[in-house]
Amino acid sequence: MTTQKPTILAGIEAGGTKFNCVVANAVGDILHQQIFPTRLPEQTLTDVAAYFTSQSQRFGTIGALGIASFGPVDLDTRSPQFGHILSTPKVGWSHYDLRGFFAKTFAAPIGFETDVNGALLGEYTQGAAAGLRHAAYVTIGTGIGAGFLVNGQLLQGLSHPEIGHSFLARHPQDSFIGNCPFHQDCVEGLAAGPAITARWGASNSLPPDHAAWSLQAFYVAQLCVNITHFIGPEVIILGGGVMQQAHLFPLIRAEFKRLINGYCSEALLQRLDTYIVPPLLGNNAGQIGALYLAARALQGD
Ligand code: ADP
Ligand code: ZN
Repeated sequence: MTTQKPTILAGIEAGGTKFNCVVANAVGDILHQQIFPTRLPEQTLTDVAAYFTSQSQRFGTIGALGIASFGPVDLDTRSPQFGHILSTPKVGWSHYDLRGFFAKTFAAPIGFETDVNGALLGEYTQGAAAGLRHAAYVTIGTGIGAGFLVNGQLLQGLSHPEIGHSFLARHPQDSFIGNCPFHQDCVEGLAAGPAITARWGASNSLPPDHAAWSLQAFYVAQLCVNITHFIGPEVIILGGGVMQQAHLFPLIRAEFKRLINGYCSEALLQRLDTYIVPPLLGNNAGQIGALYLAARALQGD
């Protein structure tokens, strides 16, 4: 008598420094996970594929795979570059067909998204955006990226949103030129981790009362005001390394209130501590999102 192998989900949170790989019975029911350092594509993906093959022998057939990838990536399903990494300073990865590698290696449907959309989907499934229809997720780390959920759907035009490269009003006392290689003083050029380090000589070791943080709150709050006026989300989730500085949250909320200057509902102003929030899933948002993408792909979505 033969018993049929169970079907499992595989998820990859593909980052510029590490690939976090996970297998699960269902989105919230993780069987095993392993991290591989990001090297050249062939080296990295050979390890990842071998990992999934061995986990599949252990736990069951991979029914679907979800990939939440560092960007920029092409998410247009009609494009010949769909699933490819686009131009990136990351050596060896420019124009690499990441989705295609897994499509060739595993006979399973694949869900493919940006890392920030993956984190947003994780928070939507089990975190700070659970039960909501409109949500924003902004990551402030090496770069600044954002994903938006409107009416339960990820916002996606010709490219994924790149609000991290939009422009803000400069603080009158900020003389830092900005370090975005494309725009100098876009949001990322003024407020991502490397901008803080370039301006002040450090980022994670600055004390909570350092002038860096009120300036940071001024920029992040402007971004939150713009997101509020553009999208009208029910929650703005702020993640990434820089937002590990928990004391930033009250500063950002206070600056948000000052800058929006009454041009929103009173109810929103009364609940800023549930409007501008850290990710509830912390560092696990991306892997939960990758599994959600796999579960959706399994259903043919
Ligand atoms: P990545 O962007 O590669 O996913 P992170 O989100 O950890 O990684 O972002 C790294 C950037 O964030 C670096 O520029 C670093 O200086 C900054 N950073 C990381 N942790 C902290 C922290 N606790 N406080 C302030 N800045 C931090
Ligand atoms: Zn820029």
